Parts: sequence; C-alpha cells; structure tokens
Amino acid sequence: MLLYDKLLEINMGQYGIRLPMSPARSEKILRYLEEHPAGFPVLSLGEAAKGLGLDSPLLSRRDLERVHQKEYITRLYENFSSGEAEAEGSLEQELLKTYELVNPDGTYNRYEPDKAIKPLGELFKAILYRVSGSYLACRLALEEGFCYYLGGGQHHGRYDSGAGFCLLNDVILAARKIQAEGRASLVWIIDVDAHKGDGSAELVMFSRDRGETFVGKDPEIITLSVHMASGWPLDEESIAKAEQGRAPLVESDIDIPIAQGEEARYLPRLIDGFRELERRSGVRKPGLAIVVDGVDVYEKDGLASTALIALSKEQCLARDRLIFSYLRDRRLPSAWLMAGGYGEDAWEPTANFLASLAADSI
Ligand SMILES: [Zn+2]
Repeated sequence: MLLYDKLLEINMGQYGIRLPMSPARSEKILRYLEEHPAGFPVLSLGEAAKGLGLDSPLLSRRDLERVHQKEYITRLYENFSSGEAEAEGSLEQELLKTYELVNPDGTYNRYEPDKAIKPLGELFKAILYRVSGSYLACRLALEEGFCYYLGGGQHHGRYDSGAGFCLLNDVILAARKIQAEGRASLVWIIDVDAHKGDGSAELVMFSRDRGETFVGKDPEIITLSVHMASGWPLDEESIAKAEQGRAPLVESDIDIPIAQGEEARYLPRLIDGFRELERRSGVRKPGLAIVVDGVDVYEKDGLASTALIALSKEQCLARDRLIFSYLRDRRLPSAWLMAGGYGEDAWEPTANFLASLAADSI
C-alpha cells in the first residue's frame, strides 16, 4: 500500500523559499511504478482517513501537544490564526529558523519574501498535512502489514523548535498517537536517513523524563539511527553550539555512525543494529516498526553535505530489502516514511525498492 496525493507537494518557491528539494521526486517514483508495477494501490490521505473512519486526515492540536512543548504549539497555532508577520515568537519566526532562512547578520539566506505569492504563515497548514500522513501510514501498516508513505520523516523536529527543515516531528507524533490509542505498545524506530535522527532521540528522551512511554521499566519506543558519523547535525559547528541534554547531543537508543569510506560495512552494522533492537526488547515483540527511509545516503544525492556517505544504487536497494525482509520474516507491521533525498536523482533508490517488491507478492 502506497500513501500519496498531490496536496503533499509543497512548492516552497511560492513562499519565497529556495531549497534543493525536487518537487517531482514523488511523481517520478509513481511514474516508474507505472512501468514496473509493484502491485499495491495508491491511496490519498483523504481516502486513507475515510477508510479508517476518521473525520479528517489531520492530526489535532492535542496530538501535537502530546509530543512537543505546549508553548511551542501555541506559537504555531495562535500566530497562524492571527497572521501576524514576523513578530517575536511568531509562527513566521519559527519557520525562518526551521528553514535556516536568516544569516547571523540578520540578512536573508535562500529567502526572497518579495517573490512570495503566499504568506509564509500558510506554510504551516501544508506542513501539518504532510506530518499527519505518517500517522495514517502507521494505521494502514497495522491493517495491511506494510505501507510506504511518499512524505514524512521530519526527524530533526525538536521539543520546542524546528530544526533542519523539520517544524514538527511526524515520526514521534505518529508513534505516540498509536500508543495513546492502544494500537501498539512497543514501537521500533529504524532511521536510516543520512542524518542522525536527533530530534526523535530528544523527544523520546524527554517523554521518558516525564515518566511516559514505559511499560514497567521497559521503554515503549526504541530508536535506532544509522547515519553519517560527522555530517550535519554532528559537524563541529553544530556540536559546539549544542546545549547539553539537547539534540543533537542526545543519543538514540542505538546509534550507528558510519564514517566516510565505510560504506561496505553499512549492511553488517545495520544487522548488528537489529540484534541490539531485539536485545533491548527482551521477550516483548514490537507492535509496529517505523522506518525513516531517507535516501540521502545515495551517491548521486544532490545535497553537498551528504557527500560524506555514498551508497551505490545497489547498496541502497540491498539496505531497504534487508530491512523489509527482516521485518516481514518476523511479521512486524511496518510504516515507511520517504524522508531525506535531494536533487534530480533522489527518486531512484525509492522507486527501485518499491518496484522490487512486486516479485514478493506482498
Ligand atoms: Zn537526511
């Protein structure tokens, strides 16, 4: 089952923002799958919500407050409603920070407000829609066993702010809502994006500090992150600026940093990660796995800072196939989020993986 619709495509240029994301990425994946059918249907978010008996595909404000700081969510909602422009602590300011649109000297970076045809604040509505799809993907995965969402994976979103182009953390929002509704107890997060899932690690740690997400002494979410050892957010500048006990310094339950040139060790180390997930789960079986399936590890990725890791097309496919087989063999429902991938070729690894599933008759 694939989850996608055109409303997910955010044209950042309409808000005056220039980013290296290819708006055609999902379209190219779908076109490839028309030629190489994978044998599963494509559902829109609206269709998914309706099929699940939900009034709306959107997460509620209460859902966001379960994971993020209440004051932060208030800033996003109240300033969105009032439409105040760039006031201190406003939604617009949060967006400028999240998308790194202001230089230290106050000038704009990759942002040309005079070229915008939509108010910046309206971007929140589009982001909320995208973020909400990850929860729907989890629900579909629980029903169908597997769902791939051509959206989601905003794993840098932090407790009280956005970071790294991620305003809200859909990964943890989805996991916590699924748990709050009693649909799964233990959830595994398997994050293989090139960048460390630092926001997810922070949010899970904070929820544990609040005494949430435990069964007895056992954590209910276990995070695994396989990522570049030294690229952003683990570069020297970010580490020097970081606060103790906050992202990116917070550790995932299992962190597997891959140093430059270690690509051949990627799969064996991922298998070590699976073993560690099992060890930490003990006798408990997870009810759901969320895979943050970033393909910015691809050697043809267009973001210069991801050059520190360079998996070939074959290695990307082997990685995703390994995760898929591992979860399928254990009959674990899995929701896959498309996550990072930049430039003109970012569609290739995801399209290859999905097309390869046709042979599996899932
Ligand atoms: Zn990434």
